[in-house]
Amino acid sequence: MSNQPTLHDQRSSATLTEDDRAISNEVACSPAHDLRVKSPAADHWDIMIIGAGLAGLALARQLLLNTDKRILLVDKRTEFPPAKQKVGEATVQLSAYYYARVLDLEEHLMQQHYLKYNLRFYWKTPGKTNDCYEHYSQSYIRKLSNINTYQLDRNKFEGEMLRVCLENPNFGFHPGCMDLDVTLSETAGPHSFSFRSVVGAVSGTARWVVDTSGRGRFLAKRLGLAREGQIRHGAHFFWVDGLVDIEKLTNLSLQQVRTRPDRTALGHTPAWQATNHFCAEGLWFWTIPLHGKTSLGLVYDNRLITRERVDTIEKLIDWVCEEFPLFARDLPYRNVIHHTALKDFAHDCAQTISPARWAIAGEAGRFTDPLYSPGGDLISLYNTFITDAVQTEDDAELTEKCRLYEQMMEAVYEAYVPTYAISYDALGDQEAFSLKYSWELAIYFSYYVFPFINDLFTDRRFLSVFISRFSQLGRINRSLQAFISSFFQWKKNNRTPPCQIFHFDFTDIKPLAVAEKTFYRVGVSVDEARELLDQQLANLREMARFIATQICASVIGDVGVLTNRRFIERLDINRLQFDPAEICSTYLACANATEEYCWTLDPNVLRPLIEGQTVKGSEDEQEVLVGVGA
Ligand SMILES: Cc1cc2nc3c(=O)[nH]c(=O)nc-3n(C[C@H](O)[C@H](O)[C@H](O)COP(=O)(O)OP(=O)(O)OC[C@H]3O[C@@H](n4cnc5c(N)ncnc54)[C@H](O)[C@@H]3O)c2cc1C
Repeated sequence: MSNQPTLHDQRSSATLTEDDRAISNEVACSPAHDLRVKSPAADHWDIMIIGAGLAGLALARQLLLNTDKRILLVDKRTEFPPAKQKVGEATVQLSAYYYARVLDLEEHLMQQHYLKYNLRFYWKTPGKTNDCYEHYSQSYIRKLSNINTYQLDRNKFEGEMLRVCLENPNFGFHPGCMDLDVTLSETAGPHSFSFRSVVGAVSGTARWVVDTSGRGRFLAKRLGLAREGQIRHGAHFFWVDGLVDIEKLTNLSLQQVRTRPDRTALGHTPAWQATNHFCAEGLWFWTIPLHGKTSLGLVYDNRLITRERVDTIEKLIDWVCEEFPLFARDLPYRNVIHHTALKDFAHDCAQTISPARWAIAGEAGRFTDPLYSPGGDLISLYNTFITDAVQTEDDAELTEKCRLYEQMMEAVYEAYVPTYAISYDALGDQEAFSLKYSWELAIYFSYYVFPFINDLFTDRRFLSVFISRFSQLGRINRSLQAFISSFFQWKKNNRTPPCQIFHFDFTDIKPLAVAEKTFYRVGVSVDEARELLDQQLANLREMARFIATQICASVIGDVGVLTNRRFIERLDINRLQFDPAEICSTYLACANATEEYCWTLDPNVLRPLIEGQTVKGSEDEQEVLVGVGA
């Protein structure tokens, strides 16, 4: 069974003449500049999808699985999958579940792609050469959850989606689509379109038009909906032959690697199977394994690195080897398959779904940042809303659904923005980032993954429950993200992190482990889901309080803060203000109080990062506890 679809025009045979077929067979193997034009008959489709990338193919697959609608997919490309590797490979629970279970592609995923071993984050250790794996501190989740995630070879995956779509008689496909023109109907009638493709001039009508043209942003540009986002980040990425096994970038022998005592904390699952992030202020460098090759990429805040420093593959590899010296053992000797860059990749969109029967999904709509891989998640969510909307015949019901879905899509996008626009700098410190990520992941598990695996996002009763709680979280989130970022900036100038290597499992912060348990709640009613979201809101509030407390303890340099009830109860998690002098004076007023705060979590999990830090710039860089309570 081949994974490579052929490129014949796949319109229903009723509209394809013998002549057409001869030409489409011929052009399937032709280079783009040899394409021959022919005028086939007009046709009517239920849904026209513009762009056969991840979003468009996944939508076509979802619609074909769940409806008997006739789908026309068009793309300007002529080569499927393309020869050049595509970026966007890591999946997280929501997208992985969508691809495997909703799109029913689990067998393909298990056969052709690596299972992913969570996300891992690494920091250099002060005072060490950092030229080997064992010199890096790590934060990670050791256990695999009960929802598989995958490292996608995008080209293979898109090839497979196209192959299975092409098997369906309701699917039409036009590669090499040029000069596309779409006129959106202003009445209840269908939209009309025309283009030239490998079989010539094509025109027709479609009840719905969905734009998944990626950075082409076909509809957003034509409808004047394209907006700049608040995030100004760039990326340079490349692929090399073979596996970059970061655990082998070491001074240790194989036997020492196997038996070193920190295996007790780290476990035995190969670290290379994770999406590995080597972190510094406002940037990260990823390693992602694909079969037979490795994907590597740098994502950075444009204000912190100038593009010129990394704009050739030689400069990029030099920069990586200098910043994270362990890679000097490997990358300079690799065969680079190819290298690409995106200068400023984030963008917003004013609207992505309309009762006038058009929608936008994938990068054609909104895109924030690849940290945590939300691209695939947003595609999964948007496509699920669109699949539901296109099946809604009643106009009033459709209008109401589009209103709610737009509100949801915007809310989800807006919720990501502070993560990337406010506290990206916190990537530069293990303590600040571990707090940030645990918080974001706990929200993700309980407020994104749990409803998605229960098919609740297309239940309107659930959505109103969800939105009211989600907006409460939004307030805490903004307050916390700014607090974490200010803490990071303060710490950068005032403290040196511990010289000891620290291995931290994020789920040691108990509310995160509690949030992950929601994956085991399936088949819940809206009322049960409401109860669960309320419990999770309380769980997240506790977590936010802990994060604020840990930061204050770190600033003051006194682990006594971690349990001081009087101080902890004064923290207003909705309106946190990072003012070290104020934090110290508040604590002074509480330092003699002996009553302990009654946590439902262990407040000491990050204690070594408080105890091990030193005061920056002090003559002998003495160990702190320096704070008022010490
Ligand atoms: C640096 C980086 C790293 C990323 N990493 C991840 C990750 O690890 N995990 C993740 O989930 N996401 C990741 N993403 C996001 C992910 O890449 C995107 O979400 C995903 O590629 C978007 O798919 P798409 O279908 O919208 O666009 P594409 O895959 O680009 O597809 C768009 C298609 O539309 C076609 N097209 C364009 N214009 C026209 C036109 N006028 N007519 C016809 N066809 C047209 C194009 O030829 C193309 O085939 C990353 C993004 C970046 C920038």
